[in-house]
Amino acid sequence: MERGKTAKTSGYQCPVQKRCGGCQLLHLPYEEQLALKQKQVERLLKPYCRVRRITGMEDPLHYRNKVHAAFAHRRDGTIVSGIYEEGTHKVVPVDACLLENEKADEIIRTIRGLLRSFKIKTYDEDSGYGLLRHVMVRTAHQTGQVMVVLVLGSPILPSRNNFVKALRAAHPEITTVVLNVNDRRTSMVLGEKETVLYGKGYIEDVLCGRRFRISAKSFYQVNSVQTEALYAKAIELAGLSGNERVIDAYCGIGTIGLIAADKAGEVIGIELNHDAVQDAIRNARANNVKNIRFYENDAGRFMVGMAEQEAGADVVFMDPPRTGSDEAFLSSVVRLAPKRVVYISCNPKTQARDLEYLTKHGYRAQEAWPYDMFPFVDYAETVVLLTRQNRL
Ligand code: SAH
Repeated sequence: MERGKTAKTSGYQCPVQKRCGGCQLLHLPYEEQLALKQKQVERLLKPYCRVRRITGMEDPLHYRNKVHAAFAHRRDGTIVSGIYEEGTHKVVPVDACLLENEKADEIIRTIRGLLRSFKIKTYDEDSGYGLLRHVMVRTAHQTGQVMVVLVLGSPILPSRNNFVKALRAAHPEITTVVLNVNDRRTSMVLGEKETVLYGKGYIEDVLCGRRFRISAKSFYQVNSVQTEALYAKAIELAGLSGNERVIDAYCGIGTIGLIAADKAGEVIGIELNHDAVQDAIRNARANNVKNIRFYENDAGRFMVGMAEQEAGADVVFMDPPRTGSDEAFLSSVVRLAPKRVVYISCNPKTQARDLEYLTKHGYRAQEAWPYDMFPFVDYAETVVLLTRQNRL
């Protein structure tokens, strides 16, 4: 055995593991992380259906395509960037992270190095003084496009053109720079207002053969490799033949619906975030998909409306946030009576709760497929197929 390693470690070490708390499973070899997640999913979902073997990553490092750093300064003026220590406004300096895209980490280090010469002050969470609060970098796995979002406490960035020029000179791979203003005392990273400083204001990536534009505020899965595998499975489980009316609920920028559209008769996408819906509409156009429509609405409210109109649906994809779905949505699914429901979840606890409802109201869960979307992190992602039971 190598020195410093024991049979029980992943072999990876991180100097800020304790203070960051992000990698709860760093101490476990990757195979054991997978076994642990398999067990967690089985414990929660086995009461409903068979659980298949979890799909892990070949290379579980640096998978995060979205990287975010908080900026602050020490008493002596030293600028630091990294993550907040849990429950505080104290920034733990992070130079590099095992999970994050390495190019993105490099860009963040460059920005930190440029601030002083441009006299850009970092924001102070306690007093509200200062300017730069956060930097978010999004990288597109397939196209290599890179977006940098500078989150400021107020709208004016001194000598912004020269700053962007210096940043692009150091990193020609940056394709767009966006200024986001967050002037509120909040734990949310991004504010509402946005100005494009350079490029198109969004990046484009390719998933499952379709091209997607992604704006700063839109949701996009952070692990592109695993997302492709997960989406392919979700669409296979839907068993589409070309004629179905499909609902893609909680659709984000329209990924699942747009990938499924050529196998369906028509697709309806529902999403609450305005920017994501705008991206989705443009993504449909860019991919020349004509049989899809997107609605900006609460998924539950929209589905209640559909059920009241006695509209039907053949397949429902649902991919809610960690909190899961709600009864308005689930009861409307039951009324719309699709033959299949494909439920994607990043939280098997709330998924189990929602399966409890659906399986009590005419659906049978067939099988669950876990995917490791977040290596080293104690989250499991699953896709579950439910089918409507025949009522004779
Ligand atoms: N299916 C997409 C997005 C999944 S993330 C993808 O794979 O990329 C969940 C999405 O649900 C986010 O885009 C979020 O903005 C949206 N959302 C959250 N609450 C919602 C609600 N009540 N109604 C509709 N969409 C909601």
